[in-house]
Amino acid sequence: MPDSTNADLFERAKLVMPGGVNSPVRSFRSVGGTPYFVDKAEGPYVWDVQGQRYIDYVLSYGPCILGHANPTIVDAVSVAAGNGTSYGAPTEREVLMAEEMCSRVHGLEMLRLVSSGTEAAMSAIRLARGATGRDKIVKFAGNYHGHSDNLLAAGGSGVANQGLSGCDGVPDGAVADTIVAPYNEVPELDESIAVVAVEPVAANMGVVPPAPGFLAALRAACDEVGAMLLFDEVITGFRLGRGGASEWFDVQPDVWCFGKVIGGGLPVGAYGGSREVMASIAPLGGVYQGGTLSGNPLATAAGLAMLDQLTDDAYAKLEATATRLATGLETVFGDAGIPVIVPRVASLMASSSPTPRPRISTKPKLRPTTASTRSSSMACSTEVSPWHPAPTKQSSCQPCTPTNSSPKPSPPPPR
Ligand code: PMP
Repeated sequence: MPDSTNADLFERAKLVMPGGVNSPVRSFRSVGGTPYFVDKAEGPYVWDVQGQRYIDYVLSYGPCILGHANPTIVDAVSVAAGNGTSYGAPTEREVLMAEEMCSRVHGLEMLRLVSSGTEAAMSAIRLARGATGRDKIVKFAGNYHGHSDNLLAAGGSGVANQGLSGCDGVPDGAVADTIVAPYNEVPELDESIAVVAVEPVAANMGVVPPAPGFLAALRAACDEVGAMLLFDEVITGFRLGRGGASEWFDVQPDVWCFGKVIGGGLPVGAYGGSREVMASIAPLGGVYQGGTLSGNPLATAAGLAMLDQLTDDAYAKLEATATRLATGLETVFGDAGIPVIVPRVASLMASSSPTPRPRISTKPKLRPTTASTRSSSMACSTEVSPWHPAPTKQSSCQPCTPTNSSPKPSPPPPR
C-alpha cells in the first residue's frame, strides 16, 4: 500500500494537474471533499491509498460493467501485452472486434475503432457532414457527446455538473452550425441539417428515457429532410442489451458511436454505420480520420474478452441487480421521507430529487448556438438539468420499460 494519504496526493496533484485530476468530474468539486486516490480495485470494490475499501458505484462511469479486474479481461490483456503494445499495422483482433460488434447491432455493417467516446462522436459528425455535404448539426440540451468544440454546447455530464456556463476556448465559428434543441421533443428540421445527434437514453443528465415515440419520430423527421440520425451509444451500447439502444427501442440510426463497455476498461471508442455510409471514410472516401493507437492490441484484447462475457444471461443478471438496487434505494429514501426518483432503463439507473418538468414548446424553433446564445443555452442545461420526466410510476423505477411506442424486442429472457 502506498504511504501517501488521499489529502497528500490531492495537494501534490493540484500542483501538477488542473484541479488535481485528469478529468473534471473526478475533482469532487460538485460534491465537495477530497477525491479518493485508488490503489487497487477488484469486483465491486475499490481501495484507496489509505486502505479504505468502498463499494464502487462509479465503475469508471460505465466501462467496468463486469466489475473491476475481471479475470478474463486481465488475462487477455496480459497475454496481449506480452506480444507488444502497439504496431501501427492491422491485427486479427481488430477484425474480430468489428465482426462481433456488427453481428450484435442490426444495421451496423462497418466501423472504425478509435480511442475514446469523444473521438468517436466527433468523427461520426464529420462523417455525417461529409456524406450529406451539409454543415448544420442538431444536438439536444443536456446530452453529452464528448468534448469536441462543436458538440460541447449545452452539454450534460461534467459540462453541466461543474457549473460551467460555457466553454472558454471554443470560438463562435466552431459552434455556429450547432443547433441545440430540448431533449424529448422532435425539432423542426430542414434541408440544411446534416445530422441529428442524440443520446437514445439521456444518461448524462441523470437517466432520462426517451419519451414514447421520440426516437421513432426523430427517425422520421430526419428521413423527411435527408438528414442523418446519429445515436450516441457510448453509454447505452452493449449495455442495454446485446444490440444496445437501437435494438432496445427498435429504431435504427444511420450512424452510431460507441465507447466505454467495448473497451473493457481500456481506452476504446468506435463509430460506424452501413457500408454505404462508411464508404465516405478515407481511404474509401474523402472524410479523413485516423489514429496512431486506434485498434490498439491491448484494447481489442480487453474489448473482445468483455463482449465474450456479455451474453443474454449476463444482461439478465445485470438488470436484475440494477432493479434490486433501484428498488432498495426507493425504499430506503421513501422510509426516510426523502423525495427521490430512481429512473432506470435496463441496468442503467440514477437517483436524484424530482425536479419540475420544464415548460417547453411543442415544436421547438431551432436556433444556432452563438456567442450571445451559448451561455443561455448552457445555463438552460444547468438550471433544468437533470431534466427528469415528472416522477410518474414509470420514471420512478418501474421494471425497465422502454418508452418508445414502436414495438420493442423483449429484453433478454433469463435462461
Ligand atoms: N458520448 C457519451 C454519451 C458519453 O457519455 C461520453 C462520456 N461520458 C462521451 C460521448 C465521451 O466519451 P469519452 O469520455 O470516452 O471521450
